[in-house]
Amino acid sequence: DVQISQEITFDNMMLSTEVLQGLALSGFHKPSPIQLLGIPIGKLGLDLLLEAKAGTGKTAVFSILALEKININYGLQAIIVAPTREIAAQICDVLNQIGSKIKGDIEKVKDNKVHIVVGTPGRLKSLIQNKHLKVASVRLLILDEADKLMETCFISDIKFIHSKLPKQKQVVLSSATFPDHITAVIDQLVQDAHHVCPAANQVLLGISHRVTYVKSNINSVTQTNLKFKELLKILTGIQFKQCVIFCNYLARVDQIHKMLKQAGWPSQLIYSKQQQTTRLEALKTLQDYKCRILISTDLVSRGIDAKNVDLVINFEAPANYETYLHRIGRSGRFGSIGMAISILGEGPECNKFMTMLAPIKALEIKELWSLKSVQE
Ligand code: ADP
Ligand code: MG
Repeated sequence: DVQISQEITFDNMMLSTEVLQGLALSGFHKPSPIQLLGIPIGKLGLDLLLEAKAGTGKTAVFSILALEKININYGLQAIIVAPTREIAAQICDVLNQIGSKIKGDIEKVKDNKVHIVVGTPGRLKSLIQNKHLKVASVRLLILDEADKLMETCFISDIKFIHSKLPKQKQVVLSSATFPDHITAVIDQLVQDAHHVCPAANQVLLGISHRVTYVKSNINSVTQTNLKFKELLKILTGIQFKQCVIFCNYLARVDQIHKMLKQAGWPSQLIYSKQQQTTRLEALKTLQDYKCRILISTDLVSRGIDAKNVDLVINFEAPANYETYLHRIGRSGRFGSIGMAISILGEGPECNKFMTMLAPIKALEIKELWSLKSVQE
């Protein structure tokens, strides 16, 4: 999956001793391709578009850039924007870990304690508006999940934040995909940006795509039951560590949760209407390996890093190709092997899915039950 350079280690990338120690503490020894390319170019101060498959270590790229850029004698110098609080919290964890050695020194600095701020667009906007964030010395703006942040619900906040920061600043956008339709708005935020994009054609390496069909032309209750039977077959037939099941509707998430419970498969569920703390707890349960199955709408299909998820099941076909990529980005993270199984109704749902996935057809979408391991 992720090809890690044999010769180049973080040691010869001209990073500070503190960051190198932080990386060692994080267990990062060799840079991933995006880290190999993105860090040196980013350190030059150029605006960057970091494009790489989910799970290939983009967070560390911009975290390292931020940590290398700040001078602990000054105040706030870097702002990192993420579309959800969960992702923001994860970025903080990475910064605190890779930056843990720098933090030791920071504690000695009495004033100006905060050097990097991570937040969601709305929150950052209001903090800047209320002058709770003093942005005069900010020199770096990072947008994680940039394609999401370019959407209508976020873009005006992003533009606001961008406009309130000093003109002289480095802007870094990180995303698994940079679709054409966001190019124009990105151009308003960056100057002569360098597009870092290792092995663009390897977006999906390491993931086995499988489909399995159930009858259509039946009422939806019956179809859901058929899909559920197929789901149980998958859960019992495939050896997985952890699994995320995606549904298109909240009601379906609830329903599958209950049905799985009855069938003896405890699961966690997560959706946008939940309290923030409940959502974080559900994710933590997964990350701490206290549960094997998480059921979700597309809320967690972005950026959430759960290391042991090796199976993603689409109970319903995702709405578009990008969503499919984000969903399956849950598996195959940093070098682990993943399988993505879509349970489709024959006919329209299947046809739409196959058309949508035309870009990866070449990589062969196989039928699930041709798998040897599950044949018996
Ligand atoms: P992305 O943002 O590109 O989707 P993440 O930054 O969340 O990916 O990283 C995915 C996983 O890979 C994380 O668990 C992270 O700890 C791990 N990781 C990142 N860089 C390295 C590295 N150089 N060596 C080992 N593990 C790494
Ligand atoms: Mg990420």
